[in-house]
Amino acid sequence: MLVHELIRKGRPEKGALFAKSGSYSYAALQETVDRYRRCLHARGIGPGDRVGLFCHNSAEFIFAYMAIASLGAVIIPLNIMFRPREIAYILSDADSRHVVTDRPLELASAELNDSDLPLQHLLPEIGEAASAYRDHPLPDVHLTPEDPCVILYTSGTTGRPKGAVLSHRNLVSNARSYTETIKAVESDNYLCVLPLFHSFAWTCCVTTALLNGASITIMESFQPKEALALIRDCGVNVVTGVPAMFGIYNSLADPRDLANVRLFVSGGASLPVETLTRFNEKTGQSIVEGYGLSEASPVVTFNPIGATKPGSIGLPLPAVSVMIVDATGQDLPPGEVGELICQGPNVMSGYLGLPQETAAVLRDGWLYTGDLAYRDDEGYIFIVDRKKDLIIVGGLNVYPREVEEVLYAHPSVKEAAVIGMPDKTRGEAVRAFVVIRDGAELNRKELMTYLRANLASYKLPREIVELEALPRNATGKVLKKELKTR
Ligand code: AMP
Repeated sequence: MLVHELIRKGRPEKGALFAKSGSYSYAALQETVDRYRRCLHARGIGPGDRVGLFCHNSAEFIFAYMAIASLGAVIIPLNIMFRPREIAYILSDADSRHVVTDRPLELASAELNDSDLPLQHLLPEIGEAASAYRDHPLPDVHLTPEDPCVILYTSGTTGRPKGAVLSHRNLVSNARSYTETIKAVESDNYLCVLPLFHSFAWTCCVTTALLNGASITIMESFQPKEALALIRDCGVNVVTGVPAMFGIYNSLADPRDLANVRLFVSGGASLPVETLTRFNEKTGQSIVEGYGLSEASPVVTFNPIGATKPGSIGLPLPAVSVMIVDATGQDLPPGEVGELICQGPNVMSGYLGLPQETAAVLRDGWLYTGDLAYRDDEGYIFIVDRKKDLIIVGGLNVYPREVEEVLYAHPSVKEAAVIGMPDKTRGEAVRAFVVIRDGAELNRKELMTYLRANLASYKLPREIVELEALPRNATGKVLKKELKTR
């Protein structure tokens, strides 16, 4: 089965999407996707093309995604908070010439025009323009489940963003496994407030809902009170979020608001046991925690409903195998910490154009996640730390190296190192250490203005600390552990 074929799973008259722009039955969803498909085909998009998708959370995001997929083109979802520099990097790496967007593009900025990208921007008129292509013939596209559907940019275990190539099979198989685990049914209504450019929302809200002919209620951004009103009044019964959102529900929710919810799902970062306990006490309901990563479409483990363990990411998903291994790749006994590795039909084929980086994480058919974990005697897995350099701010990934590179590019910065620091509301926040060039002075205000122009807001340092020199080991590697203890 192909991702865009999932739409056929729903009964035509059943509500598929509830969004700001309207409500769409499964029949209306299919019809609108076909209009988008005609329009995008007429604008030159075809098999093998890579198409940036730069849209807010909306029904239109889903129409465009499905239309691009059905044309045999590959979707490059772009974080809506990205600045032109970040977008330009990804589009260029993916050799993408088209961008579908729902808003006037900041991409038109001089910065991007200076780059060599011969981009075709498919601007907001797509909605209306789509009707102008009513008579445009739909192309015959022959795809197999092994064909790539999406390329997700992630830093993986190290370094700059890399494109994880996921096929239709990867995505559909993960939705199937997830369906079994959460006992998904047609009467479910998923609150989709997590960003659609990330695979967590895409698999755990959209593809799983469609596979089961269920409904999706889309929010453009997380407005806690509005979310609670939707949950209370609009039949939402599956609520998926990152830990920070559950912290907010804890302080705001009246238990009656949440009475109709059958399942709360947390993922993306570890759910503090304190948040879970407070949620239990306040609402009388539980939160089920899962774990995954972009390279695995993304879900790898999940707590069994009714048999969850606080602090654990649960058990491997159906069709997914997990091992916890030592440095030699040997499976470790319960209680011992090692790297979590996984295998299954949900695991990517590799990083776009990067055979070496791919070989470093895909070994003998196993995906090395870079996450450190142990299992207990019943097989429940607990994440203890990250091997990788990742900082997770309110569920969004910040790769220190990227922030460091932007800092290094500032004329008064000689050296920079970035780490995560604990943050009560967002899990982690960014802290930057800088060494200023001789003769220059640290002007924090000016430096922050510069960073704001180059980085999405969640990547901005909460604190900038000036140092005489960075602590380094004998081979010159910055000692981040030491920075963390300062
Ligand atoms: P991404 O590729 O953006 O999905 O980020 C994946 C990373 O998020 C994983 O490799 C983990 O480091 C982290 N992560 C996801 N879910 C959890 C969880 N439940 N507990 C701890 N870390 C998690």
